Amino acid sequence: MPGFNDEINKIKEEFKKKVKMSFQMEAEFEQILKYLAVNGADHESFFRAFFEEEKIEEPVCKAEAKKLLAKLREKAVRETTVRKTVTRTPEIVGEKHIIAWVEEDAAADPRAAELCKNADEVRIIKHYKDIFNAKGHNFKEEKKSGNFIVARNKDALVYPGAPFCQSFGNEHFYYASCVKNCIFDCDYCFLQGLYPCGYPVYFVNLEDYFEELDSLLQKFPVYLCISYDTDLLALEQKLHYVEKWVSYAQLRPDLKIEIRTKSGNSTLFKHFENMLKSSGTENCDNVIFAWTISPEEVISFAEQGLPSVEKRIGALKAAKRSGFPVRICFDPMIYHPDWKKTYQKLFSNVFNSVNAEDILDISVGVFRISNKLLRRMRDANEDSPVTQFPYITENGACHYGEISSEMMSFAKEELKKYVPADKIYAWEGN
Ligand code: SF4
Repeated sequence: MPGFNDEINKIKEEFKKKVKMSFQMEAEFEQILKYLAVNGADHESFFRAFFEEEKIEEPVCKAEAKKLLAKLREKAVRETTVRKTVTRTPEIVGEKHIIAWVEEDAAADPRAAELCKNADEVRIIKHYKDIFNAKGHNFKEEKKSGNFIVARNKDALVYPGAPFCQSFGNEHFYYASCVKNCIFDCDYCFLQGLYPCGYPVYFVNLEDYFEELDSLLQKFPVYLCISYDTDLLALEQKLHYVEKWVSYAQLRPDLKIEIRTKSGNSTLFKHFENMLKSSGTENCDNVIFAWTISPEEVISFAEQGLPSVEKRIGALKAAKRSGFPVRICFDPMIYHPDWKKTYQKLFSNVFNSVNAEDILDISVGVFRISNKLLRRMRDANEDSPVTQFPYITENGACHYGEISSEMMSFAKEELKKYVPADKIYAWEGN
């Protein structure tokens, strides 16, 4: 946001003449102004109107300033319309020259050869982290570039689920990541805070994952999420990894897999169904396809270009018809001033179209993120109303404050109109 810091400093200096602020409060104040700016609000006029409303005559002490700041934040988030058309990083112009970086260990793998078919240039590297963890990345531009990395994952392949994620009551909750990064581009995606680099990394040693998982399955049943660091189903036509996971899971009844997605592709499931039938399995109860569904309004400002609600529901119904258990995730719910109306309409539309009995369960949760990740997400996504929201930070986690509780209570009550309470998994923590 060029010139923006000068404007902020001007307003901040003015505010500071009458209101004593700590460094932390100054940072919060700046964030409120940024939020107004990315949503196209005239932050200077907004601030002046607030100052006049509050009739601040005498210098305000820090304790009073805290209350004043909370009021300013409340007014900004409740009254600001979220801007739908945000200025994005410019598209890469001209012909794309696609580079594939391939680890020397992975170069002979047939999967690497298949992936590199469409690259203009293949560069052999020692280790994927030489590229992925190098300094000076531009996450957004790299995502659009079409460049990619092919590697063998030599770290731990299957590891315990993160505390920010829903385990759906499963005791041994694990996580595996055979692709890093995603072809979709959600403003709230934690990957832009987690990874330094926007290029996707495709790990070709899928069989090593299976082997590690087999050892774990000898100890206890495992619930495994395989599509958190990417959208594996959206990549299926390129990678065919979901197909491999389905085949693997079909022979391991102690394993339950969740494949989280926003894909609108309905055509894949018939193929999975036929593949299972040809190997003598009628049902595949232990592979759960889980769709994250957001209101169209949220798609328009935070999930731009992603499949519509209708497409996602179409794909979900196709998965169900092919015999797979399906889950719906209204998580993360994203705040915008009209949230009550838009989420109410979404729940009603979804359950007018999908029979609640066909759904295995539902997860619901309001957006929350660690402070550390959010800092990097804000740098990667400077013009997003989601990353620039003035979140409340508590114990290292950022959330909407009271709004989070309001949204959660509302969603749970609304969803109970359609689905029995014992099918609803609510994320109550911050
Ligand atoms: S679909 Fe999921 S992994 Fe992909 S960008 Fe969106 S939030 Fe991130």
